[in-house]
Amino acid sequence: MKDTQAYRFALDLTPRQERACRSHAGAARFAWNWGLAKCKERYQAGGGWYSAAELHKVWNARKKADPALAWWTENSKCAYQEAFRDLDRALHDFVTSRQGQRAGRRLGFPRFKKRGRCRDSFRYGTGVMRCTGKTVTLPRLGTIATHESTRKLARRLDNGTARILSATVSRTAQRWFVSFTVEVERTVPGQPGRPHSAIGVDLGIKTLLTGVDDTGTVVTVPGSKPLRMSLRRLRKASRAHSRKRLRSANRAKAAARLARVHARVANVRADALHKATSALAQRYGTVVAEDLNVAGMARNRRLARAIHDAGFGQALGMLDYKTTRNGGRLIKAGRWFPSSRACSGCGAVKTKLTLSERTYMCGTCGLVLDRDVNAAVNLLKLAASGAERLNACGGTVRPGLAGHGPVKQEPGTSHEGQTGTAAGQPAAANKELTHAH
Ligand SMILES: [Zn+2]
Repeated sequence: MKDTQAYRFALDLTPRQERACRSHAGAARFAWNWGLAKCKERYQAGGGWYSAAELHKVWNARKKADPALAWWTENSKCAYQEAFRDLDRALHDFVTSRQGQRAGRRLGFPRFKKRGRCRDSFRYGTGVMRCTGKTVTLPRLGTIATHESTRKLARRLDNGTARILSATVSRTAQRWFVSFTVEVERTVPGQPGRPHSAIGVDLGIKTLLTGVDDTGTVVTVPGSKPLRMSLRRLRKASRAHSRKRLRSANRAKAAARLARVHARVANVRADALHKATSALAQRYGTVVAEDLNVAGMARNRRLARAIHDAGFGQALGMLDYKTTRNGGRLIKAGRWFPSSRACSGCGAVKTKLTLSERTYMCGTCGLVLDRDVNAAVNLLKLAASGAERLNACGGTVRPGLAGHGPVKQEPGTSHEGQTGTAAGQPAAANKELTHAH
């Protein structure tokens, strides 16, 4: 089975290599702006856009004719070529979004990029891209020491089960990274440890992840809450930054420090999520989670930080590809599915449940259960009821239809091996997944 995967490594650049990276990123930015100006010109004159291939042709003629562009030879031709491709895609996305053919938020017209105001990044689509255990080799930059081991990718390249398709070099805070897009040959999708078992997973705010499986076992991954933990540092860095004079050297220094704290937090969070989602995908055949409307929720400012911190969208994405890769599946409950508001014991649905209510108390049957555990049980039942087939084919479960169906079921009758008792209390066993990678 062929699969595309990304491998990302932090780089330890020599000063010469770092200069080359900055130069390449500048070249990519220049090409984007140059191409965008050309496209605008043509569009205003009544024509369409230039495609990436057309832009490349015009650029090739222009760069040799214009002495002011003589510096183009300092960078790999990929930097320009790939920037034209990005621009082509951005214009295409803009057009399809305007025509309503693209999901998600409406996209604006591509903008000009400004140094320091956009991400420093460039891409190689062709050329010699190699990777040994401790280094990577890229066109024009040569062999670069990596900050971490690249052994896993190197081994795959050696035995011919992987092929590098492209490499993106980018900067986050003061650190440069390379991300290889790799086509990987996988031996038969693996099988999860317990292929016929399912787990309902509530991606939380207080706890990173709460799951209840079909044996009634509760699995929790305590929210590492990296952002909250380093919030003091972050707040300090943020305050220090805002107090510095605009456009001063001190402000630039404070901004760099703030960016480093943010980058560190994001790394810790991604790491915790990777470990937890890998463990779930390796163990269970079916994982059920709520398909949160992340874009909509993040607009709520008070919640925004916590949601961002817990990395909902990121976790869902990980669960999605990891379950597939392990031969399992991820079921996403529609966003109208009342996983938190419904009682996992009797199915009664509350009209309101505030975020501060950490314990679910049912007024109908008297169930008292941790809020996240209650939600996870509801999600697990959704898998068992088969109602997910409705949204597995793209539709969304709406209230009044299947959305309420599963939770109205009698507890304990929905699934073989489910231990849902009258109280709906899952077994007390509480495993932590944090160390199971
Ligand atoms: Zn109840």
